[in-house]
Amino acid sequence: NADAALYQAKAMGRGNYQFYSEEMNARTLDRLTLESGLRHAVERGELQLKYQPQIDLADGAILGAEALLRWQPAGQQLVMPDAFITIAEETGLIVPIGEWVLRTACAQQVAWRQAGLPDLRIAVNLSARQFRQPGLDAMVARVLADTGCAADRLELEITESVLMERPDSAAETLQRLSDMGVQLAIDDFGTGYSSLSYLKRFPINALKIDRSFVRDIAAKRAASNDDGAIAAAVIALAHSMGLTVVAEGVETEQQRDFLRQLHCDQAQGFYFSEPMSAAALEHLFIQGAASK
Ligand code: C2E
Ligand code: MG
Ligand code: MG
Ligand code: MG
Repeated sequence: NADAALYQAKAMGRGNYQFYSEEMNARTLDRLTLESGLRHAVERGELQLKYQPQIDLADGAILGAEALLRWQPAGQQLVMPDAFITIAEETGLIVPIGEWVLRTACAQQVAWRQAGLPDLRIAVNLSARQFRQPGLDAMVARVLADTGCAADRLELEITESVLMERPDSAAETLQRLSDMGVQLAIDDFGTGYSSLSYLKRFPINALKIDRSFVRDIAAKRAASNDDGAIAAAVIALAHSMGLTVVAEGVETEQQRDFLRQLHCDQAQGFYFSEPMSAAALEHLFIQGAASK
């Protein structure tokens, strides 16, 4: 809280107060630098996508990949999404950036197919602002037509909070996307306040269990069977609603085994693979084919 920090700095004396305001300036500058840099990121070709494989827990096959955005400003360090997505949201820059992400990911899906890889599903994150943008469905349809990506090979990820803000208009938007054949997933499930029964009214295909939840269920398994039972119930209930369940942030063999026992469908995480370049993912398949 800024007021409390200011009060504390004042109480500690004049020198500290000055130090505090200098730091504030540095932070404001940082934000302005990021913002103006981000404004030109698309046209300068500074954005790139990494792809993290999504694994079938039953047999270990790669079913698809989630596209994850990176920003590489010339001569500077790579910027991760957590450092700039919020700014992109607040400035509205997320709209052109998001369209670039969607177009690049869909074009990559087609390129992989043409290179002889399986017909992978590509998952793309949508932020709240993108989701509320009028004409979202028309933009998605245009990108699919331009790239030749089949609608059912695209999965759009949104968070629970997006659905809770304006549920009626959210349901309409989702229905239009669903009617086009686009797959829809709830990202970071377990971090918001919605329940599975709340999600029933939306045309959702998949539920992605947040990585904090994945970490907890595996850690608590030894201590208490109840926690395992709760996780099992969430997965079973999701299945009874016809949802595919994807576990995020799987880092250990123990977590994988536990999720498999619970009949969780798919998983994503460092245990299987970090997000990688499109070429590296393609290489995985070529290697796999050669070793068969
Ligand atoms: P997310 O959609 O929940 O993506 C999963 C994040 O978890 C990614 O971070 C990924 O690198 C990380 N991750 C994957 N496996 C593991 C694991 O085993 N352990 C741990 N600790 N982390 C793992 P990343 O790439 O930094 O992205 C962060 C968030 O930024 C994403 O969370 C998503 O909300 C947002 N984001 C990323 N790309 C885009 C984009 O193109 N558009 C929008 N609107 N948001 C994006
Ligand atoms: Mg995601
Ligand atoms: Mg997530
Ligand atoms: Mg997240």
